[in-house]
Amino acid sequence: MKHKFIYVLVIVFGFFINIYSLSANEDIADQYPNSALYSKPLEFFPYVFSAIGATAPPSYENSGHNNNLSFIITGDGVVVINSGAAFTLAKALHEEIKLVTDQPVKLVINENAQGHAVLGNNYWTQLGVPILAHEDAAKEFEERGYNILERMKGYNHEKSQGTILQSPTKTFSKKYLVPFGNFPIEVLYLGPAHSKGDISVWLPEQKIVISGDIAFHERMLPIFSDTDTAAWIETWNAEFEPLGATYVIPGHGHPTNMAQVKRYTHDYLVYLRTKIAEHLYDGGELKDAYYVDQSLYSGLDTFDELATNNAGRVYEAMEFE
Ligand SMILES: [Zn+2]
Repeated sequence: MKHKFIYVLVIVFGFFINIYSLSANEDIADQYPNSALYSKPLEFFPYVFSAIGATAPPSYENSGHNNNLSFIITGDGVVVINSGAAFTLAKALHEEIKLVTDQPVKLVINENAQGHAVLGNNYWTQLGVPILAHEDAAKEFEERGYNILERMKGYNHEKSQGTILQSPTKTFSKKYLVPFGNFPIEVLYLGPAHSKGDISVWLPEQKIVISGDIAFHERMLPIFSDTDTAAWIETWNAEFEPLGATYVIPGHGHPTNMAQVKRYTHDYLVYLRTKIAEHLYDGGELKDAYYVDQSLYSGLDTFDELATNNAGRVYEAMEFE
């Protein structure tokens, strides 16, 4: 009897730990206090690891680790996806990599030109590791890198130490095949999505896509002033979903499947555009467009920060469509 009680206690406690460590909750300040990383990288699929970022805005507490930093152990070197928001995050990720393999990091990929994808680049280039990005992301980095770095310093303070702007060292336009490893790894530009030069890393044998910012869940996606939501939906339907991925490591949120990221990315974009189209049809103005009903999505992290802005941006774009 007593045994049974302890058994139940262990199960309940284990469940609690699991929920705590795996849930996306923007109120959790840090899940890995011993590291600059927000969470410890986990091997979600064989040889495919990801350190899942906070589903919150970047902050001093999460060191700007609010996106997924992934790596693949290929059998002949390691491929890293995203250098993180600062030198210190790239270094912390490298320390984790060294704990699980002796294989050297041979390639770093920037999933786009956002700070949390590119600012750790100089950690890797000092080790002689090439950095690959889409040509549009490289252009964006040249134009906005300085501002991106300054914004990061603004919240990261002394944690920004060592971070120097370093652009990608290799670019591609449509498709890049990783030239080493025991299984094919394709770096794909599928079309316009969330931001300039968004790319996805596709493992055709395992049917895993490390999608980059084309796919979100657990938190609300941000629509930027230059995000073309109509094109994003088209890229999704024509290119991204037809990949036929069984597993998705999204840009933000835990690894999941296509149906789940579809609900909170594609379906959200379609929903918001439908609401704004109705508002425009009724002769509605911008000032009221901010408040179209998005309560269906109010359970997502960063809803409060982003929902009204997203609606305004879609209104501004759809006015001219
Ligand atoms: Zn992102």
